[in-house]
Amino acid sequence: MYKNDTVYYPQDEMTTVLLPVTSGCSYNKCIFCSMYKGDKYCEVPFWDIEMQLLNGYAYTEKVFLTGADPMSIGFDKMKRLLDMIHRYLPYCACVASYASIKSISDYSVEELSILHDAGLRLLYIGFETGRDDILKLMNKGHTVNEAIEQAKKLNQASLSFNSILMYGIAGRSQSVDNAVATAKMINQFITNKVITMNLTVFHGTELNNMVNRGDFIPPARNERLIEIRTLLENLQSKQPMIFDTTHPTNIIKIKGTLPQDKEKLVDEVTNRLSKSFKI
Ligand code: SF4
Repeated sequence: MYKNDTVYYPQDEMTTVLLPVTSGCSYNKCIFCSMYKGDKYCEVPFWDIEMQLLNGYAYTEKVFLTGADPMSIGFDKMKRLLDMIHRYLPYCACVASYASIKSISDYSVEELSILHDAGLRLLYIGFETGRDDILKLMNKGHTVNEAIEQAKKLNQASLSFNSILMYGIAGRSQSVDNAVATAKMINQFITNKVITMNLTVFHGTELNNMVNRGDFIPPARNERLIEIRTLLENLQSKQPMIFDTTHPTNIIKIKGTLPQDKEKLVDEVTNRLSKSFKI
């Protein structure tokens, strides 16, 4: 039941008012993910959401919708939800949420635009990688072309989003290739921010079984640093884009705006690498 769930939210939303919308993950098949493994997917009833809003602070300026993918509730319910938030929290200027490529594909550009106008202003989307073979291996449920297509729809609808990437995900000796392909994907659209996560192999996941069988070998630390640097070097943002590796899983914590901070960020990774070995 959602009231006992562990609540996940992005680091940037640490001080944002949280509003539960879904419980569990409607997909729940990514082999690296342990977050919702034993949880049954369900939607939080509207009467319960309304009760929480009714008891909320009327001057709230930002709300984060919790659940693995609240966009999975579909357009009609999402619009109703945003209208309800606006009714109870009239000063709320930004509703943010996790979303998946799969759930966005169910929305038209027009619908995304209506949701934007109704207050949905920021999505956090797990793109993970720009390689189809790795998306398939990880059972992510979308392809690179689908990701690009959905991202472009969001751009057309003026709905901002942050792109979550996972380095290390391609395995040993694949990091440079993965970084180049991932940057190539990101370069196709405009994203507010690139947030990196470091691949962590969690107990109880299929990925962990693969590692134990020797079917997947995670890259070493230095290879992962080279992956971050290669990603940075290959990103060509059309508009200012934040590059952020400060999530706790990361092996280096750097943050800056591309393109102007690119050289500085690359140097920081190179310095970290040079402390590990001569390059
Ligand atoms: S990574 Fe996201 S979409 Fe995949 S199983 Fe975990 S919560 Fe669900």
